[in-house]
Parts: sequence; C-alpha cells; structure tokens
Amino acid sequence: MEKKKIILNTIRENQPTSRTKLKEITNIRPGTISALVKNLKKENFLLEAGKEKSLRGRKQSLLRINGEKYYALGLEFDAERIIGLLVDLNSTVIASAHQGLETFPTKNNLWEASPDADTLKTEIGEDKGREAIIGKIISTAESLCQEVPSEKILGLGIADPGVVNSKEGVSLFSSLIPNWENIPLGRILSERLKIPVKLIGASKAKVLAEFNSGLEKGIKGILFIEFGPGIACGVISDGVLLRGANEMAGELGHTHISDDGAICGCGSYGCLEAIASMSAIVKKAKKSIKAGSESLIKYSEDGEINADRIFEAASKGDKLCLNILNESARYLGLGVANSINLFNPEMVIFDQRMALLGEFFIEEIKRVIKRQALRFATENLRFVVSSLGEKAGPLGAATIILDEFFKR
Ligand SMILES: [Zn+2]
Repeated sequence: MEKKKIILNTIRENQPTSRTKLKEITNIRPGTISALVKNLKKENFLLEAGKEKSLRGRKQSLLRINGEKYYALGLEFDAERIIGLLVDLNSTVIASAHQGLETFPTKNNLWEASPDADTLKTEIGEDKGREAIIGKIISTAESLCQEVPSEKILGLGIADPGVVNSKEGVSLFSSLIPNWENIPLGRILSERLKIPVKLIGASKAKVLAEFNSGLEKGIKGILFIEFGPGIACGVISDGVLLRGANEMAGELGHTHISDDGAICGCGSYGCLEAIASMSAIVKKAKKSIKAGSESLIKYSEDGEINADRIFEAASKGDKLCLNILNESARYLGLGVANSINLFNPEMVIFDQRMALLGEFFIEEIKRVIKRQALRFATENLRFVVSSLGEKAGPLGAATIILDEFFKR
C-alpha cells in the first residue's frame, strides 16, 4: 500500500511521467512499478498520456492522474463576498461561484437568503450577519456540488479571513467581521453538506496555491502579501507552509507599526491593518472629506465613498486620494520589509488587488523595502504580482483537501 501511494504521489508531482522516470525517482523495482501502475489504471486513477519525445531508443508511454476520478471544493469568505471553486484531482478548475454580501452586517434580504435560518440560529446564536455569511457559504457550496456526482466530492476547504483552529474546525475570530467568534464552521458545514470540511487561514491558503501553481520549480521560500479589507501574509519556508503553534503565523496586519495609530478590529491600536488596509484607506478618505478637504470623489452622484471611487479618483490625479494611497504604501513597505528580515524569502508575491491600485502603489512599497530591509535579504529577492488573483484563496483551500487525499 505504501508503495502504491508513493507511485501515485510521484506521478502527481511529475506528470506526465514514464515508468522509467518513476523507477529513477522512487527506486522501486520495475516489475513492482508495472504491477502497481496496472492496478492504479484499473482503479481509474491513472491515464495514459501519449508517448515521450525522445530521440534515441524506444519511446516510453507517459502516465498522468485521471483528474475526473475525484473532486474537491474550495471556498473563501470575508465580510463582503464568497468565492467558491470546484476543482478536479489535478487542481484544474471545473466550476466557480461567486456571491456578494453587499452592506454587511444586517440587511433583510441577506437574512432571507440564508437556508435553514432557525437551525443556524440555535447553532451560532442570533446574529443576522453571521447567519447571512454561513447561509451563503452553504448555498455557494451546494450550487458547486451539483456540478458532479456527490460521491466523487472529497471535501470542502474553507479559506477563513481570521484565525482558525483547523484541528477542531472552528473559526475563532476575525477582525473584519463584527461578532464573529468561535464559530464551529467545520461541523455546521459538514453536517449540512454531508462532506468532510477543513478550515485554513486565507493568507495560508493563498501562499499554498501560489506555491503549487507551478511558479517555478525550485522556489522554496515565498512571502505572500494579502491586501484587501485586512492585511496578512502567508509564508512558505524551505518548501513548508508556516502555521505557527496556534496557527497564528503570518498575522502581519496586527503587527504594531505606529504609536499613535488608529484603533484596530483586533482590539489593539496602531496595527498595520488599521493604518494601511483598504478599509483604513476608505475611512481616511471619508474623514478628510468630512473635514473639508477637496477631492474629485466629493462630487459623485450618490455621495458614496468607497474603495473603487478612491482608486478611480487617484488614477485621475486626485491629490487627496494619491496622498492617502501613498501613505498606505509606505506603511505596507515597512511591514513587508520587517517580514523580509524575519523570513528571508526568495520571492515576494503581492496580492493582485495591490496592483489594481496603480503601478505607483507597489513601486512605493518596493522603494521602502529597499531602504528598510537588510541589503543581504533583498539582494536576489524577486517581486511578482499574484497571477491567480481571487482564485488563490479557494484554490489553496481545495488544495488542503487534495493534499490530504493523496497523503492517505
Ligand atoms: Zn490589530
């Protein structure tokens, strides 16, 4: 059994691959490999994938994993939206689903959208915001489950915006969602959906997805900077995801960056998240305009000041918005520079949402990093923008389900 698992995992990591290559990598006898491959093909785990391109000798036939054998779900949520993906055994995306939560926390239409609201209420206590989020997680997952036969779904991975206890499947706390504490999300969801459910912090899911997305073979140290309503980082060090004793590793957003900074959702003050996140940017713009500052966003028809309006105004050269964004970039630069000194990554991956703010935003962050981080830590350091974008969270969450399956 052990050898069968080795063969399957070796093919997963090197596919398409030949039997000869399998022998080279695993050192298992050719006769045993042939028998195991035959067995795995019979069980529908493996498919032939054409012939090897070689100039000399007999051309070897290649093997790959049959993606359609099983599937996994991955889902990311925060206070504003839910994004779900259905992937096959090869992490290929089969279907996606997306739901907005609009004006969190309590709107009647959201409440009505929650399935089985009464049972939810007894499980998590009465709070329409919480019920709305869980209800929408359930309905998003259900719609994805309908895409393939239910017995083929291995499980659901959840990318959680806050702190989780992944062993118990409990979402412990989120600084972004009011009253979100100690939610037994794993149990609630697995009972409803009748599939195993695993929780992981969103920034950890994202760095895992980037690591597995075929960035470049050989890269073993990644720092992923998550930027949105909150700020966090995901760390891969020596090829391994850094979790921390209580799964708290990577809470970059709650590192203290200013002595007189704003109050943070975590209860402290001066945290990077409270100063530089997207929500902090919106808060600052609102405050300045209320105090009489001139800005293009002041004159929008509905009077609404949100992130999109701020970025749009900045792209038109609006001074107020540019100043606020530059200040945010400077603080982010300090936070990332500190993280680089701590983790010494080979590559820093920026959340795609940072690039959407305009080239100047990431350039300013990099400028501060070059000035603040140790020279030896940045000499060969590479900076890229995530190409996975909003798929990263759900993809990484689905990956933990797939990884566990292949480990078993
Ligand atoms: Zn904080």
